[in-house]
Amino acid sequence: ERAARAAAPITPGALADGTSVPLLANLGSADGAANAVELGAEGVGLFRTEFLFLDADRAPSVREQQEQYTRMLSAFPGRKVVVRVLDAGADKPLSFLNDAEEENPALGLRGIRALRHAEVILREQLTALAAADAATDADLWVMAPMIATVDETRYFTDLCRELGLKTAGVMVETPSAALIADRVLGVADFASIGTNDLTQYTMAADRLLGTVANLQDPWAPAVLRLVAEVGAAGGRLGKPVGICGEAAADPLLAVVLVGLGATTLSMSPSALADVRASLARYTREDAERIARAALAAEGAAEAKQAAKQAAESAP
Ligand code: PEP
Ligand code: MG
Repeated sequence: ERAARAAAPITPGALADGTSVPLLANLGSADGAANAVELGAEGVGLFRTEFLFLDADRAPSVREQQEQYTRMLSAFPGRKVVVRVLDAGADKPLSFLNDAEEENPALGLRGIRALRHAEVILREQLTALAAADAATDADLWVMAPMIATVDETRYFTDLCRELGLKTAGVMVETPSAALIADRVLGVADFASIGTNDLTQYTMAADRLLGTVANLQDPWAPAVLRLVAEVGAAGGRLGKPVGICGEAAADPLLAVVLVGLGATTLSMSPSALADVRASLARYTREDAERIARAALAAEGAAEAKQAAKQAAESAP
């Protein structure tokens, strides 16, 4: 039965009018790849490389990394795989990259900032990725976490090109990057919105802290407006805008995100089936109307309710 399911063709994500919305997997190791394919992932939208190295007390060698990346890319021949370079710091500290003494690690030297500070580690990672890319048939896209400025975007994309990586993009997970998405996307090949951190930084609410968990809600209209900003910039410039935060796994919010201009959605593989079924119920026009209803609401709960009502009144 397992073999029969694995052999079944993937139904691509699409709206009711046929608009394609590729549905991709969030992965933290190559071990999850087979399961993701089995559950219908059309590729990988976020490969979190830091999980390979959480217990390491030194930076992994180029050879070690190359092995891991080759194993993962081999599971997706001909498919898009978006690999994020190390997002070290805050909720994902790496002892060889981060200073444990920072008072506000979420606002500190994390993500691209930490990598720029220790550029040799970034160079080695990109070198390993380029080698794995050359050895496999996947369509490798590489992106940087925690981008806040155009300067950081240019720094990263220049380095990717220097090291032979074709497609270089950024995560949009700070309000700054979202507000200047037109300029960021003028430099980067694509954007992928990390709604977990984008919500944390927009609402100024620690994503790990239970006492402010009510604020960590991607339905917040402030977060939706920022997503809309990025979607519109991507549309104007003809650049892909993915979503790779948890928000993409909510079947109704997924429709809203597409209505705001997201072109792909990436999520934990277990969420793929429900999101695929939900997208198939609405046309692009419906999705845009549902998104407008959510955007116009006063708060997160109201936005969800408004989207629900708009979805139910879909013709
Ligand atoms: C995000 O911030 O939404 C994201 C996808 O990245 P992570 O959860 O790994 O920080
Ligand atoms: Mg993040």
